Amino acid sequence: MAVQRMEKKIYTRSISMKQKRAKQYRKQIHQYVSTFRFKTPIQCIVDDNVILECEKTKFDVIKAISRTVQTEVKLMITQCCINHLYETRNQPAIEIAKQMEKRRCNHKETLSSKECISSIVNIDGKNKHRYLVVSQDERLRQAMRTVPGVPLIYMKRSVMIMEPMSPVSEKVVQETEARKLSAGLNDPTAGIQKQEQEPSEPAPKKRKGPKGPNPLSVKKAKKQTDVAEETQEKKKRRRSHKKTTTEDGSDHEN
Ligand SMILES: [Zn+2]
Repeated sequence: MAVQRMEKKIYTRSISMKQKRAKQYRKQIHQYVSTFRFKTPIQCIVDDNVILECEKTKFDVIKAISRTVQTEVKLMITQCCINHLYETRNQPAIEIAKQMEKRRCNHKETLSSKECISSIVNIDGKNKHRYLVVSQDERLRQAMRTVPGVPLIYMKRSVMIMEPMSPVSEKVVQETEARKLSAGLNDPTAGIQKQEQEPSEPAPKKRKGPKGPNPLSVKKAKKQTDVAEETQEKKKRRRSHKKTTTEDGSDHEN
């Protein structure tokens, strides 16, 4: 009995942990969308080590990533990472990689996965293409933490984990929030809706050319009462017309 109860307790706790994590990840992805302008499908760069790790434990890496990110994802693997998989001759792992989109990296000689992925993600200190990185390489993830706005995922035992936002990313989020707030305070007409707008969004372009027809050439719009009177008159006319026909009909009576 006691053992059963304990098992039940552990089970409920793991469920709530799962839910808690799912909520955290959802919130984090939302932040990447709103602050770092990620778009769906979220492009996920998957390294060969994650594929090998998941293949070893028969863990469905493709399903797991979309379950973790909780929105549409596009899984991608670089040419160098594919080459590393071919070197292992692990056919099931190669098959998993084949289900992902190949990301051309244009490295003539195969680089280490860390160097290859770093080169396509970190473009002048920015995550230019808005990639999420899925990697078992701690050094790669460490390097990615220095670039603002790179979501990181890895496998921990048999659980897929999304790292908490890195301090540099967190800083950008806080600065953006502060800018939004001060933009709202400085603008006396700013409402709640305006505060939610991105401050860096370009102002809408002014339309060139005439705004509408020349008011002098436009006929005066009919007033409501005029229209009403006119329809009344039409009805009258119709009625009187009907009358004549019935009068015609009455001629044939007898
Ligand atoms: Zn490469």
